[in-house]
Amino acid sequence: MNQISDISHINILTIPGIVAFSTCRGCVIDGDNYSGFNVCHYTGDEENHVEQCREQLCAMLGINRDNLIIPRQTHSLNIAVVDEIPFDTSRLENIDALVTTLPNVAIAVNTADCVPLVFVEEEAGIIAVAHSGWKGTVGCIASKTVAQMIACGADASRIKVAMGPCICGDCFEVGDEVVEQFVKNRFDAPQIILNGYCERSHIDLPQACRKSLLEAGVLDENIALPKECSRCNPQKFFSARRLGINSGRTLTIAVRKV
Ligand SMILES: [Zn+2]
Repeated sequence: MNQISDISHINILTIPGIVAFSTCRGCVIDGDNYSGFNVCHYTGDEENHVEQCREQLCAMLGINRDNLIIPRQTHSLNIAVVDEIPFDTSRLENIDALVTTLPNVAIAVNTADCVPLVFVEEEAGIIAVAHSGWKGTVGCIASKTVAQMIACGADASRIKVAMGPCICGDCFEVGDEVVEQFVKNRFDAPQIILNGYCERSHIDLPQACRKSLLEAGVLDENIALPKECSRCNPQKFFSARRLGINSGRTLTIAVRKV
């Protein structure tokens, strides 16, 4: 039996020995913003549901519970290096990216419209994940994660990056104060700040992440942009803009299996 078929998901990187995917909601009950697969423990879901989903995920991946690492994200630029198992959960507070060289350790981020990123440097055996909302994006969490991987021994030109489902430029309408932050931080290219909309500006977050990655030395051919929008597909993925922040989250996870 293919264990990975247990939880509805989309693979976002195809590299031998690497499992990298984003989860789909699966079974959705109309009006229940947490229905479907959700392992996010801090957005209001019932603890039992979160626990059940985590058990299911570990069984699917064939790992121990201690080897599943999920941070408490805060739209910060903080990165934790997962360097031992069990990993002290106090080191997962206020963290928005994870890096590890450890095999069979699943690192993950939760998102609902923000950009989830998976990074793999196959030769050095280093993987990473990051959560990049607009704050993380203008703060360059994507390039900071690459820098942390390099500090662990990665070569930027060998890093492959894939972005999971997130909000598309058409859906991501923002206020002037957000646009100002993008301009101030040199994310002012026309493919990032989209004009032509009637009143408010729109921003293409994945394109902004791509810029950040290119500046960090990742090759353009090694960057995979998201294939689907969370807000355009709220039955398939959680979307904070559709459901509100009190809702489940899409998990994007990476593990190097040996
Ligand atoms: Zn969309």
